[in-house]
Amino acid sequence: RGIIEVRDFTKCYGEFVAVDQLSFTIGEGEIFGFIGPNGAGKSTTIRFLATLLRPTSGSAFVAGHSVVDDPMGVRRVIGFMPDDFGVYDGMKVWEFLDFFAVAYEIPRARRRTIINDVLNLVDLTHKRDDFVNGLSKGMKQRLCLAKTLVHDPPVLILDEPASGLDPRARVEMKALLVELSRMGKTILISSHILSELADFCTMIGVIERGRLLACGGIQHIQRQI
Ligand code: ADP
Ligand code: ADP
Repeated sequence: RGIIEVRDFTKCYGEFVAVDQLSFTIGEGEIFGFIGPNGAGKSTTIRFLATLLRPTSGSAFVAGHSVVDDPMGVRRVIGFMPDDFGVYDGMKVWEFLDFFAVAYEIPRARRRTIINDVLNLVDLTHKRDDFVNGLSKGMKQRLCLAKTLVHDPPVLILDEPASGLDPRARVEMKALLVELSRMGKTILISSHILSELADFCTMIGVIERGRLLACGGIQHIQRQI
């Protein structure tokens, strides 16, 4: 049994089949790289797992919770970073995190500690009292990652967290993900660039036109494609 299980997930938009009978299993502790060209169906699958999209058919489970039948249970165990996260420019960095901590009903007394901890982890402690709109792109992405951590979920689902980052910020993001993995998080990360994921993912799933072409360790993948 995996901590993430997708079973025969299909999503149609009208006549168009965006994702076609997709199944895969991710074991606890894996860093699963979800790779495929633009339009392949990555975001559709990720939004399904994040309980934001209803399937045409199929099911999925995260830490035993059904995405379809128990979305609130799933939301408690995942940290989700969408590909187009709106940064709340009018907020300070700590307020942005506090906003989500309140949404997760974390008691006030614990929020400050948690916020300081996640800021430390993503190396933004020095920006705590700055406005979000003054941050660099890389810092905003790290802040969005920090936001996924406030309720300490075992699973992180990250839709193209490195997109639009310069090489240095990419390296920082990668290092951060490796550290989170060492802390015990299971991570699903998408990208359209295999080389971006190949050196640190423990498992790769390749999706094209809504179908899984290959899934397994990186050596297995390189033999297949
Ligand atoms: P990826 O994340 O791999 O770039 P997506 O999951 O965003 O791919 O999209 C998969 C396919 O589904 C694309 O062809 C896209 O145009 C189509 N699609 C996504 N969302 C919708 C929608 N709301 N209505 C119609 N087609 C959509
Ligand atoms: P309090 O209500 O505890 O007096 P304030 O809202 O006056 O706190 O904020 C004072 C400063 O304390 C803020 O500028 C911020 O740096 C820090 N702070 C307040 N709440 C938090 C929090 N939840 N997490 C991190 N820092 C906080």
